Amino acid sequence: MNVPFVDLSLQNHSLLEEITHSIQTVIANNSFINGPDVTVFENNFAKFCGAPYAIGCSSGTAALKLALLACNIQPGDEVITTPHTFIATIEAIIAVGAKPVFVDINEHTYNLDDTQIEAKITSKTKAILPVHLYGQPVNMKTICELASIYKLKVIADAAQAHGAYFHEKSIALWGDAVCFSFYPGKNLGALGDAGAVVTQDEHLAKKIRQLKDHGRQSKYKHDMIGFNDRMDSLQAAVLNVKLKKLPEWNKQRADTAKKYHEFICSNFIKLPGSLSGSTSVHHLFVIRSKHRDALQKKLKSQNIHTNIHYPIPLHLQPACHSLGYKRNDFPIAEKIANSVLSLPLFPGMTIEEIKYVSKFVNIYAEMLSLQEVHT
Ligand SMILES: *Cc1c(COP(=O)(O)O)cnc(C)c1O
Repeated sequence: MNVPFVDLSLQNHSLLEEITHSIQTVIANNSFINGPDVTVFENNFAKFCGAPYAIGCSSGTAALKLALLACNIQPGDEVITTPHTFIATIEAIIAVGAKPVFVDINEHTYNLDDTQIEAKITSKTKAILPVHLYGQPVNMKTICELASIYKLKVIADAAQAHGAYFHEKSIALWGDAVCFSFYPGKNLGALGDAGAVVTQDEHLAKKIRQLKDHGRQSKYKHDMIGFNDRMDSLQAAVLNVKLKKLPEWNKQRADTAKKYHEFICSNFIKLPGSLSGSTSVHHLFVIRSKHRDALQKKLKSQNIHTNIHYPIPLHLQPACHSLGYKRNDFPIAEKIANSVLSLPLFPGMTIEEIKYVSKFVNIYAEMLSLQEVHT
């Protein structure tokens, strides 16, 4: 058996006719930029989120940058976030001239430890940027309470969490602006780059809409200096077809995660935890092992393809040197980065594949720990 880490061809293939038709329509209408497909997708995605506004843009990274700018985050401001995420989260903060201030993570949910945030708030703090990593919501109740006490904005990175819930409410409704990515491998993926910001604030929605399109008020009248950060009509047309399948795909992910929890039973493997009152969308299924690198190699020898999200915490990235952090500043994030392993998980994965992966995770976890005892 050969188990890929993800297999996108499964989802694209089942929709190929519909996707091709939607692309042909865009070509026939010559509506490549700001066409009706973008508006239709924005309305569909807003409805999916139960929110009044969704603004399509060119990527998840652009969504974060536009949201921060629209929330008036400026040079010199501090934004509190997690060191255990993809670098795009802080690229956006740094792109607007602000400084990312890290808080360590919770060992079980892999997300921002909300009990440590308050101690990091200074007079320069202007926003909190939680990341719902691996599809698992952060404790947004604490974060929104802190934000309201200290008058901070909440910009959330939901690039891995389309369709997640926290306290019976869509994750897209927790925060001033919630940012999504439609990078091909995400729970909802385009055939290229795309993203969106979801908000309940009419003023923010209007500002983001202008910023992503050259600060336009009308064709050649510009209220502000903006960007070319629009969503392509072609991507919107594809996303309109794929969005209909998202609930079903998320359900398949949840079923697969449940089976992994059932089948993986080794004392030497830690399974992902969840926060009570939250519904994850299982973007990734991330286990922990003391012998992570060896385990990954062994699994590879059985044609089981895994990944590491992420091997280097952001405070230790060469690119972040000037932020002034050092080793041991965030011990949990460092420990997690050295032990996490993402197992194959994608809609359409078969029960045989799940059993095959689980079996070898169990076998090799035991074997590696025995070797450790004897050396
Ligand atoms: C994918 C991702 C992003 C960036 O999205 P792009 O669409 O690739 O720009 C940001 N944050 C997280 C956590 C992501 O997983």
